[in-house]
Amino acid sequence: MGISTDFSVAIAGAGLSGLCLAQYLTRAGIDVHVYERDPGPFVRRQGYRIILDRYGLEALQESLPRPLYRLALATGDEPGGHLRFTDARLRNAFTINFKDEPHATRQVDRLTLRTILQSGLDGRIHYGKSAVAVDNGGPAGLRLRFSDGSATAASVVVGADGVGSALRAQLTPDAEPANTPMAGVYGRSPLRYDGGSIIPDALRTSGVLAIADQPGRAFFFTSMRFGEDPRVAFARVAPGSYAPTGDDYVMWGLLLQQNEVPMGVRGDVLALRKLAVRMSADFHPLIRRLVGTAEWDATVLNLFTTGRRPTRWAVPRATMMGDAVHAMPPFGAHGGNTALRDAALLGHRLVQARTSGIPVEEAIAAYQEEMIPYAFRAVDTAATLMRRLTGAAAAPHWVLTRVLPRLHRVTVPEA
Ligand SMILES: Cc1cc2nc3c(=O)[nH]c(=O)nc-3n(C[C@H](O)[C@H](O)[C@H](O)COP(=O)(O)OP(=O)(O)OC[C@H]3O[C@@H](n4cnc5c(N)ncnc54)[C@H](O)[C@@H]3O)c2cc1C
Repeated sequence: MGISTDFSVAIAGAGLSGLCLAQYLTRAGIDVHVYERDPGPFVRRQGYRIILDRYGLEALQESLPRPLYRLALATGDEPGGHLRFTDARLRNAFTINFKDEPHATRQVDRLTLRTILQSGLDGRIHYGKSAVAVDNGGPAGLRLRFSDGSATAASVVVGADGVGSALRAQLTPDAEPANTPMAGVYGRSPLRYDGGSIIPDALRTSGVLAIADQPGRAFFFTSMRFGEDPRVAFARVAPGSYAPTGDDYVMWGLLLQQNEVPMGVRGDVLALRKLAVRMSADFHPLIRRLVGTAEWDATVLNLFTTGRRPTRWAVPRATMMGDAVHAMPPFGAHGGNTALRDAALLGHRLVQARTSGIPVEEAIAAYQEEMIPYAFRAVDTAATLMRRLTGAAAAPHWVLTRVLPRLHRVTVPEA
């Protein structure tokens, strides 16, 4: 593509957006390195699935070599399915149907997707590197500094270091996310239980949000069935790469108020387990069974926050993507999709700048101007959904938990 070699990009964070941008730039021949705080690729279980929408899928298609994109689809769940909103006893209030076209909406395992995004980036991902700041200066223009005292020179620095971003305070000083009253305890349970599926046939292809009578309490679950077993698909498409998982599972999340999660429980998996058991006691027996059969080392607590629109970008040639700049509560499945969309857009702008001679500052400004409106629409949608579904706003909650379920038959018998 005729891109000169005096240009380099350093990305902080090897999550969804950081790896996706690295793929995009590598394909275009741009020198890119990713610096990740975790000591290795599989240290955290990240035991949940993620729903990719049109934006997420398009971003992956633009960024990944074709065989890797096909690998993401092949290992994903079957297309289609439903999202059901029910009361605590799993009586239907209403249902959203997903299109059953392969490129419309796909559920994939997050860890498998992250592994696919790492393929082919050998020598370009550096683990155990916790970014702390960006300095002006150095041979390439900027220096990304790490907590171990080391630093790397780069022409452009991208903060893709997630919701707890260390670079955000410096790069967008007025955009620290706001706390919300809500939190989620997430877990995963094996799909096969007692010789059969723990999920009854009626809910085979459904995600379910069961909303409790008490405002601020709900339970979400969905099963993840791998299309092709990743261990087989990886061996076929990307020989030599390691598939970290392949067993079907149910991902679940108990949504509750932050003030119901005592400080002492927050970093303690066993205490979180006890809390989840206690707080799900009034739900349908299927939900109690899911919590009771969970793999406890995959249990995590997530305190929901909402990002604030940045009004200024403080370091020229440094920018941010994904949750680092637009954190949002996990309602509506927008967080990861928006992060991937950012990566493909920023990749496109940087490559365009390098091939057409547009100054890189202009390319980054164009990315930021385009990203902020769509990303903060997603933040607003996620925050509104969270309030409607779990908030104390009397009317919607009452309609969801009392009126609509009475109009429908019981979805899952309790016996
Ligand atoms: C339970 C749950 C379910 C979800 N479901 C969906 C869904 O269905 N659809 C959807 O679109 N989104 C979903 N999301 C949101 C989605 O997972 C996130 O929005 C997405 O991962 C954000 O990508 P990212 O690249 O910004 O950050 P991440 O993927 O979080 O990656 C950030 C990376 O940066 C690293 N890091 C952190 N600090 C530093 C540092 N100082 N230096 C270097 N590295 C650092 C982290 O270790 C991590 O690897 C869900 C979230 C949760 C919690």
